[in-house]
Amino acid sequence: TWTNTSDRALRARAEAVIPGGMYGHQSVMLLPDDYPQFFSRGSGPYLWDADGNRYIDYLCGYGPSLFGYGVEAIDQAYVRRMSQGDTLTGPAEVMVELAEAFTAQVTHADWAMFCKNGTDATTMALMVARNHTQKKTIVRARGAYHGAAPWCTPLSLGVTTEDRANQIFYDYNDVESLEAAVAAAGSDLAAIFASPIKHDTFVDQERPTTAYATRARELCDEHGALLIVDDVRAGFRLARDCSWSLVGVQPDLSTWGKAIANGHPISALLGSEKARGAAAFVYVTGSYWFSAAPMAAALETLKHIRETDYLETNLALGKRLRSGLDEAAGRHGFALRQTGPEELPLIMFEEDADMAKGYFWCNALIRRGVYFHPWHNMFFSAAMTEADIDFTLEVADESFKLLKAAGPLEPVAKLQMAHHAIHSIQPL
Ligand code: PMP
Repeated sequence: TWTNTSDRALRARAEAVIPGGMYGHQSVMLLPDDYPQFFSRGSGPYLWDADGNRYIDYLCGYGPSLFGYGVEAIDQAYVRRMSQGDTLTGPAEVMVELAEAFTAQVTHADWAMFCKNGTDATTMALMVARNHTQKKTIVRARGAYHGAAPWCTPLSLGVTTEDRANQIFYDYNDVESLEAAVAAAGSDLAAIFASPIKHDTFVDQERPTTAYATRARELCDEHGALLIVDDVRAGFRLARDCSWSLVGVQPDLSTWGKAIANGHPISALLGSEKARGAAAFVYVTGSYWFSAAPMAAALETLKHIRETDYLETNLALGKRLRSGLDEAAGRHGFALRQTGPEELPLIMFEEDADMAKGYFWCNALIRRGVYFHPWHNMFFSAAMTEADIDFTLEVADESFKLLKAAGPLEPVAKLQMAHHAIHSIQPL
């Protein structure tokens, strides 16, 4: 039976020594009440919390676990390289091998730079674009996430208006609003940032339209600006190439992280020939950016990406889950909003503006061993099997039944408070 006594005890200790008990997207503050905050291990598609409860993990570490937790060949590559030396005074041969592998894998890429987090890569992209163009203005989609540096973090606490200067926003997939943003940049356009799909939190996902992606490319070319695709979250989850290869558009820069080393800490900025000179001279670095062991893990992950059918597996699992959930919801008189690509599902309820249904349902799922998220897109790992999906569907069915029996629900107080707090902060 499901318990959370160890988790509650750890939370109490954390409260004393970690500000707010936890921070960032790893905080469960805005998740349904029974979501565990602390985990003890992961293996294949499964995750165990501090109390030993097992979950089929549809968050996959918020993206990194592409092949499942603890893939032996990848972890062995890491351990082998670590035993020879990881963080040395300079990079090892594996850095060149990895850059060769990435430029061979991703069509637009002629060069690669490595860093640690997605934010490092997006910030570096911004700097390279400004250096390349000698212009300042960045045009990017309203509501899109590109990281937690002062120029892009979603909340404004601790951030000044000056930190956000030289940015103009457009609405994803809206060609007119993109054109208006570019027009407002005048002769100062350095770059257009684009998420590979619209994968913002709390709202339905959208694939890019060909018209929008193509227009973004044209506008950059007309202005001599760089097109940046932020593939940190979706990279290698929709294609074995940059995600916009699916709409036939090649960016000048693309940013990568999360899945590229199946969970080992490394991210990347890839660029085309055009931007090489500008990239060579921006000053960017970090104590751990040249560590060899995560690079060895990334090299092995790229081999898995080339040589296995993980992409097809994840798509098939995604389709099975989506149609199974629609059927189960229908049986109990509910309708789901399942949006975006099947491999990166976002699942919300129709007629659930205050998210009370979603929270109740996810809370029932968590207590039965399925880790779903009520308002963030989810992920598959190629370690999942049809049996895992079928177990998920059984648990989902049971949870729909409980939701129906519960009758009318109160709005989710913590979400209401969060929305109030967010809207009371001065938008920048
Ligand atoms: N861009 C996108 C699209 C992301 O999803 C994320 C992380 N969720 C980032 C950038 C930032 O990556 P990181 O958290 O590793 O800094």
